[in-house]
Amino acid sequence: MPAKTVNDIVALCKRRGFIFTGSEIYGGLGGAYDYGPYGVELMKNIRNAWWNSMIYSRNDIEGLDAALISNRLMWKYSGHEASFSDPLVECKKCGARMRQDKMRDPTKCDNCGSTEITEPRAYQLMMGLSIGAMADGAINAYLRPETATTTYVNFKNVLDAKPHKLPFGIAQIGKAFRNEISPRGFVFRMREFEQAEMQYFVNPSDDEKYFEMWKATRLAWWIDTLGIPAEKLRFLPHEKLAHYAKAAVDIEYEFPDGFDEVEGVHNRQDFDLGSHTKSQDEFEIHAKVLDNKDSTTKLAYSDPQSGESFIPYVIETAMGVNRAMLAVMIEAYTEEDLGDGKSRIVLKLKPWLSPVKAAVIPLARNVPELLEISNNIENDLRKLGIGRIELENSGNIGKNYRRHDEIGTPVCITVDHQTIEDGTVTLRYRDTMDQVRVPIADVPSKVLEIVKQ
Ligand code: ATP
Repeated sequence: MPAKTVNDIVALCKRRGFIFTGSEIYGGLGGAYDYGPYGVELMKNIRNAWWNSMIYSRNDIEGLDAALISNRLMWKYSGHEASFSDPLVECKKCGARMRQDKMRDPTKCDNCGSTEITEPRAYQLMMGLSIGAMADGAINAYLRPETATTTYVNFKNVLDAKPHKLPFGIAQIGKAFRNEISPRGFVFRMREFEQAEMQYFVNPSDDEKYFEMWKATRLAWWIDTLGIPAEKLRFLPHEKLAHYAKAAVDIEYEFPDGFDEVEGVHNRQDFDLGSHTKSQDEFEIHAKVLDNKDSTTKLAYSDPQSGESFIPYVIETAMGVNRAMLAVMIEAYTEEDLGDGKSRIVLKLKPWLSPVKAAVIPLARNVPELLEISNNIENDLRKLGIGRIELENSGNIGKNYRRHDEIGTPVCITVDHQTIEDGTVTLRYRDTMDQVRVPIADVPSKVLEIVKQ
């Protein structure tokens, strides 16, 4: 059975080194988390799966990794400076500040229940920066609040470097920053988080077709690739659309406390490329007046056959990588009753997602022969290039199994005194706890077989 509460996951993440509170020894910082040894591996595996599906298994999408800090003007013309805000209300009694559209009951304070709530005011979510030696403290740059805009402004660069006919896409994975009013739900709502977003540029007459295609493709990825059961996922169409959108749907996952967004699919029309092109027209006028330079960029597409030039529509898929990891961990988390008052926690991850692919465990500590055989097995497994392999030399096999169950290692290889005599080891499978003896020579192929699942 998956985790009953997100707190189960919080405790496991801290205990086993997946996720720590950011700035922890200085009292923490709301909405910021640090990913530990196993968290970085799980995030990397999710990122790689997304990249494989978007880039390596198709020929119509290019990759990009844009800067996190960007020119203030970019966010002015994208519309974010004026309108990327959440409605902030304050409780007149206890002073709690809340995001009005996420309150349990918009007429009552989430903290103290008082009905004395202020009128909402627009609260800017972007984190402004004042950078450079000449900066006078005024905001001249922003940390990006999404990857999407940093993709649009590179539309022409990418297309010039790698010509494509429509439809084609540009994909990015990277950090985004939002000054969220109330970070919550562990890594569900943070101020620094990671997005995997893809912008698909289409002929305006094809927008509805590709919107439906990407909805179906992304839902299938959650089910088939990440292994989330179909009944725990659903579409939620947006009733109130953002200023740029013609249609928008969330993919929601059923967290322990209810369905919530993990990814969005949006038809952003020609809003973004259009407004960055219009901004360039303004620059053109300025540039001509000031020093007669033509320094402008039009983010339009020229059809190679008809020669017609137009601004494509954009279908965007926008996933939160941290939310994907949280959903994967909740699904994998299992508490098993082993009888006799014993139980175990096991993370039943798909083996290709597991942070550690295999652990090699000599049964007794610091016995030179056992350690040497274990080191050799470890080295052979490393050569497979399948990811992280661990060697445990604490001599406490029970503790080692518990640890690897909890971090989701699909198989442990135990080296004991019989190994010295007959060259066999024990494979201990995470999910069934079955143990089988196999010759050392078979270990790499067996592990490979398991990890491919
Ligand atoms: P929300 O309504 O939850 O604030 P959003 O609709 O503004 O999210 P998008 O701008 O569509 O979110 O971002 C795409 C994805 O990025 C979301 O589906 C989510 O998975 C992730 N995401 C957005 N904000 C955060 C955050 N503060 N912390 C973690 N992940 C986030």
